[in-house]
Amino acid sequence: MMKTVGNQILDLIYPRRCPVCDRIVTDGLIHTQCERMLTPVREPACMRCGKPLTDEEVEFCGDCIAHPRSFQKGYAVFLYNDVTRPSLMAYKYANRREYTAFYTSRMIKQYGLLWKREQFDGIVPVPIHWKRRRKRGYNQAELLAGEIAKALRVPLYPKLIRRAVNTKPLKQLGGAERQKQLRMAFQPDYRFMAGHRQECRALRKVLLVDDIYTTGATAQACTDVLLSMGVSAVHVACVCIGQGNA
Ligand SMILES: [Zn+2]
Ligand SMILES: [Zn+2]
Repeated sequence: MMKTVGNQILDLIYPRRCPVCDRIVTDGLIHTQCERMLTPVREPACMRCGKPLTDEEVEFCGDCIAHPRSFQKGYAVFLYNDVTRPSLMAYKYANRREYTAFYTSRMIKQYGLLWKREQFDGIVPVPIHWKRRRKRGYNQAELLAGEIAKALRVPLYPKLIRRAVNTKPLKQLGGAERQKQLRMAFQPDYRFMAGHRQECRALRKVLLVDDIYTTGATAQACTDVLLSMGVSAVHVACVCIGQGNA
């Protein structure tokens, strides 16, 4: 695509940075040698959440066996590891919004056709608390979801669900307590629903989008909320996913 003069000037002021090494990229979205350091998610993978598995004989990862899932299917492009961890940290906390272009281009390349066939009614980002959003200036999941919505030509719903409680870092909590906190943290956005009744009622199948999938607790909590709102099927897309253990 031709760059506009405005974009060229922006590139000079805010040069695009590589999502792996964070140095400036002058050509493309990532350095070729840096992209080779990423581990793509391949088969065998958990049939539910999409986590890569080491054992070809098993169908589901340990997390999906231990916790029943009510979303239909998960999709991820890269393994969450020592290469992608700092990249996602910078994406989330250091204003590296430009990583959106690389990450969504790879998501669309791998799953675009499949997602088109699924005919989603809406794309829904995992929300962050409004205070957090105001402080950071953006929600990375919303940036990803926005690009996916554009590519699939499906409406984006950034306000369908909200993060009601600004929870303390959940990493400090144990499994059961974490799940309980999360379940309470997400809620339907009743104000948005009141203003978009018809549209919300027509939402049957949605694609939930986040940057990372680890235990699946966040995706499950958001799925619970969406199903309670009358959505009948939720699929989950993310950039990175943890390694599955059988
Ligand atoms: Zn690089
Ligand atoms: Zn799984």
